[in-house]
Amino acid sequence: MDKTPVFYHKDYVKYGFGGLHPFDPERFPKFVSMIEVEEGMHKAMTIFESPRAEDADLTQVHTPSYISKVERMAKIGGKVSPDTPVTKDAPEAARRIVGGSLEAARIIDRYQTVVNFGGLHHAGREKGEGFCLFNDVAIAARYLVDQGKKVCILDTDAHQGNGTMDIFYDDPRVLFISIHQDPMTLYPGRGNVQEIGVGDGEGYTVNIPLPRDSNISEYHYSFKEVIQPVVLDFEPDVIIRNGGSDPHHSDSLTDLALDMRGLEYLGRTTSKIVEKSDSMYIDLILSGYGSRVLDGWRSIVKGVLDLDIDSPPDKEIGSLKQEPKKTLIDTVDNLKKLLGPWWEF
Ligand SMILES: [Zn+2]
Repeated sequence: MDKTPVFYHKDYVKYGFGGLHPFDPERFPKFVSMIEVEEGMHKAMTIFESPRAEDADLTQVHTPSYISKVERMAKIGGKVSPDTPVTKDAPEAARRIVGGSLEAARIIDRYQTVVNFGGLHHAGREKGEGFCLFNDVAIAARYLVDQGKKVCILDTDAHQGNGTMDIFYDDPRVLFISIHQDPMTLYPGRGNVQEIGVGDGEGYTVNIPLPRDSNISEYHYSFKEVIQPVVLDFEPDVIIRNGGSDPHHSDSLTDLALDMRGLEYLGRTTSKIVEKSDSMYIDLILSGYGSRVLDGWRSIVKGVLDLDIDSPPDKEIGSLKQEPKKTLIDTVDNLKKLLGPWWEF
């Protein structure tokens, strides 16, 4: 069997926002070294160089005026939002990250599963924010849709994927599902159950807000009750999962409580849904803050590719058998009522 391609470029490390910013771009070369060093990883994965996304690729999702604004800021300084300064090399690095996700979409028919260090899901058509300049998730999905494919985006980042959601809000060719920390308690403050899409896209956006301290039992309940039935009913050709280690209990920006086993569960469960729905799989891991990002990525990839590698040590929180929090049970009941006209639960 072919090894799974993992897209990377040496310029990824330039996707940074300055000294004290919580996004540490050293994650990219460090993780690639981990793949190269460890047998259980390089037996299953192989590094492919990400091409540069050109203007014609970016304009599939972003407006030309937004793209030139970002390029201008790279030269003279500026911020697309208070949390996202545009450093000199970040737009070029972002073009490589986008190029990786787009190329993943271009070769997916041949490889069935492809990984990239992507997931810049907060960037919208004409705006950047939340450490995201260009939305690689949406650009890859748009490419696939243009090829006549049905795409499910499963956003498991702790932060809701507002940029991606808005781009496909009225588009029934893309099923967008986000499972995230309750927007009342975390940036970007979007992704309530009532946000289900508009026009032809109504019913094709699914938001699952999780109470703080949610652990594997809340994720398991959400996958079982909502995510799996909706995805199987949609019958996607390709599933794009995005999200790194930020649902981990140690994450410095969020308040969720997945342990390493829980992150592995995310990857493994998505992989099983890909199998059950007979679809193809693009996995994008980019986010994560604090000291355990690489361990978190390792756990996710272990689950996605069923790797024979050790799990990083961690305290265990919750279990698959544990009853989920009452707030979540109510949320899921509510979602099923709202989405009943579109999906078979
Ligand atoms: Zn995040």
